[in-house]
Amino acid sequence: MTVLSVQNLDVRHGLLQAVRGVSFDLAKGDVLALVGANGAGKTTLLRSLAGAHLPASGRIMLNGHDMTAVPSHQRIAKGIALVPEGRRLFSQMTVEENLLLGKSAGRQGEWTVDRVFSAFPNLVPRRHAKTGHLSGGEQQATAIGRALMSNPDVLLLDEVSLGLSPLVVDRVYAQLQTLLTSGTTIILVEQDLGRAMAVASRVICMLEGRVVLDSPAKNVTRDQVTKAYFGLHRDSTGRVAS
Ligand code: ATP
Repeated sequence: MTVLSVQNLDVRHGLLQAVRGVSFDLAKGDVLALVGANGAGKTTLLRSLAGAHLPASGRIMLNGHDMTAVPSHQRIAKGIALVPEGRRLFSQMTVEENLLLGKSAGRQGEWTVDRVFSAFPNLVPRRHAKTGHLSGGEQQATAIGRALMSNPDVLLLDEVSLGLSPLVVDRVYAQLQTLLTSGTTIILVEQDLGRAMAVASRVICMLEGRVVLDSPAKNVTRDQVTKAYFGLHRDSTGRVAS
């Protein structure tokens, strides 16, 4: 069954059209890697799904309900949670306090503070530490945990690797494994193509605001995605020829 349906979405920053006619459907448990060069429109698309930036046209449906004009705070309550680029934690609050904020959306489900600590064991000794004092990897785990506490149907992860060392990124991804198989529908924006394709069930590549490749991850090679990333080998419809 379709959980998230994005239909012909256009999103603008003033005169600049950052997202152009984007459409895709995701089912429960799908993990979509959204890839593309800097400026391709990935963050703008995620922000519009989260309600932080209203689209100029098109529709966003969640579990059959129209979310297009629903403001961001209500979208969390309806089941869409965003882990933004840069994490945006409350640095003067503790890990536990940040996690509990996620619960304020009031959605029932399997994610509790204890479950987040078991998915991210590196946070256990930091439970009462202010997040401003944490390492980058611990902050990222807290930001993901806070989003999970709202028990989302759709989790949007924007560049979880940004600013982290490769070793720490490995750890964050190892911890994400539990999440990737938990049945939550996930959209993952990731610069590292190899990493994205290793965990995703589906890959969408954007170029200049448009979808230029959309494929089950197992049906596409890294080379094909790289070509799409750089705008090579597009067919007459604008999609990458296989
Ligand atoms: P990155 O990997 O660099 O974050 P991206 O694929 O996420 O890239 P977006 O950040 O969505 O791309 O940017 C898409 C386009 O919209 C770019 O041309 C960018 O310069 C522009 N843009 C993004 N945010 C704004 C803004 N707040 N105001 C004006 N233009 C913006």
